[in-house]
Formats: sequence, C-alpha cells, structure tokens
Amino acid sequence: MSKGSCLCGSVTWETLAEPYAMYNCHCRMCQKVHGAAFGTYCFFRGGEVRWTSSTDTIVHYRSSDVLVRSSCDVCGSVVPYANAAGDHWVTPGGCHEEMRKPDYNIFVRDNSPWHTINGDMPRCDAYPEESGIPSVEGVPVPGKAKGNVRGSCLCGAVTYQVTEPFKVAHNCHCSRCRHGRAAAHASNGFVSCDGVEFLSGGDMLKTYKVPGARSFSQVFCKVCSSLMPHRVSERGFTLIPLGGLDDDPEIKPVDHLFVASKASWHDITDDLPQYPEGPPPA
Ligand SMILES: [Zn+2]
Ligand SMILES: [Zn+2]
Ligand SMILES: [Zn+2]
Repeated sequence: MSKGSCLCGSVTWETLAEPYAMYNCHCRMCQKVHGAAFGTYCFFRGGEVRWTSSTDTIVHYRSSDVLVRSSCDVCGSVVPYANAAGDHWVTPGGCHEEMRKPDYNIFVRDNSPWHTINGDMPRCDAYPEESGIPSVEGVPVPGKAKGNVRGSCLCGAVTYQVTEPFKVAHNCHCSRCRHGRAAAHASNGFVSCDGVEFLSGGDMLKTYKVPGARSFSQVFCKVCSSLMPHRVSERGFTLIPLGGLDDDPEIKPVDHLFVASKASWHDITDDLPQYPEGPPPA
C-alpha cells in the first residue's frame, strides 16, 4: 500500500495492493504532460486505488483513443486515472514509501534526443505485448531546429520559442519536482529571463506557486496541464521543462540534483555527477 498526492495537496490517494505492472513511459505525450524525460505508471485493478481527498480539482484531457489523462487543476500535476477497461494508472512520483521498481522502459521509439536510456531494464517500442494495451500513434520526436528551438503543450494551444542558447540543464530529484511532475525526476533547461517568447496561448497558462517557497512554481496549460516554461525574475532565469520541446535543444542535463530525495523506486543508471542537494557553487 502507498499514498500519493499532487504538488498542492488538493488531490490525495492511496493504493491498496502491489501494482501488477509498472512502466517508465518515454512517449512524447508523457514527456509533454510531465515536463520530464519520461512518466512512470503503476497499474492496478479496479478497486485497488482510492481517493483520500475531494476530487473536485481533477480535470481531464483525452490524449489518445485509449486514454483520458487526469491532472489537478490547481497545480497541474498528473493524478491517477482509469482506462476504459477500469484499470487504474497511478504515477508514483510523489510516493514516499519503499516500492518495487518498474518492469519495462516503454515507447522507447519516442525517447527525446536530450535523454539517453541506460541500464538493463527491458525496452519496448510500445506497450509490452503481455499488457494487451493497443499501441497509440506518437507525436513526432524532436529533430534539429530550423531556427529557434520550439516547444508546445500536448493540446497545442500553447506554443513558444527559445530565443537564445541554453545555459545549462539539470535533472532534479527533489520532492517538489517529483510531486509536481508526477515523475521520477524533472529535467529542466535554463535560459535568461527573456529567453522564451510565447507565440500562442499565453492566456491559457496557469501558475501555481508553492506557499512559503522562495520561487518554486509550476506553469501549465489549463486545457491539457502540460508543464510550460516558467520565468523566475527574482533569480534571473527562465526554467524550461525539457519534455515540452519540439526541437532538439542540443544540450543534455549535466548532473542529478537533490539525489538525497530520490525516489526509492528509481535507479540512476548514467555516470553523470550526483549531488545530494543543489548544484555545487560555480
Ligand atoms: Zn494539486
Ligand atoms: Zn506515455
Ligand atoms: Zn495544452
């Protein structure tokens, strides 16, 4: 049994069994909605997941024939949803308990150019055959930019371009990033404050700021809840969740931050430097 919640805590749930399957999903839809390299989903039978809060802030977005995704309308975090067969798909991003590890990397055909899949976990191009879940058509994998690097949300309402080279990118395993992205970790690129120009859908953006945090916020599309660039004026940068990019940023995360808060169910399988908390002073 485990407990989970969205970033703002409006939506909480508990699971009443061990997941019968667990996948790291590298599909482009997960990348965009989670603003991350991949989403992780635990699968439960009907009746094995229950809400422990109101569900009033949950909103839905149909991302494919097989799936209607759910998220919290206050903070933009992905929350559990049920598929047509009545199975529950639960993101363990905010889970604190010891948990089993995923079985497969799935939709590896969609993996982004800025993320390398390492380790010996089995890989599939779609869902594993044994799951019986039909494949879905993908969103194109980012290629080399023809001009400025572009990005967009999953529903397409919000589009933006990055008007300067990225300064750096980090993987962040802090508890806020794991809850907010509902993922193993965030992968963020950084540019100056004025380095992102929204081309459409500026009025579709919602912002959630964690009360008491210096600047920790999530900016997301109010239709599909994809995580979008976030200007942090007081710290002089704009943070770009790399999962939303439609072109190759030609930069990869250089390290893993806040690994002291890493999810128990996630193994880091690359050789990048790991820091228990924030980055070392430059
Ligand atoms: Zn929330
Ligand atoms: Zn996916
Ligand atoms: Zn959208």
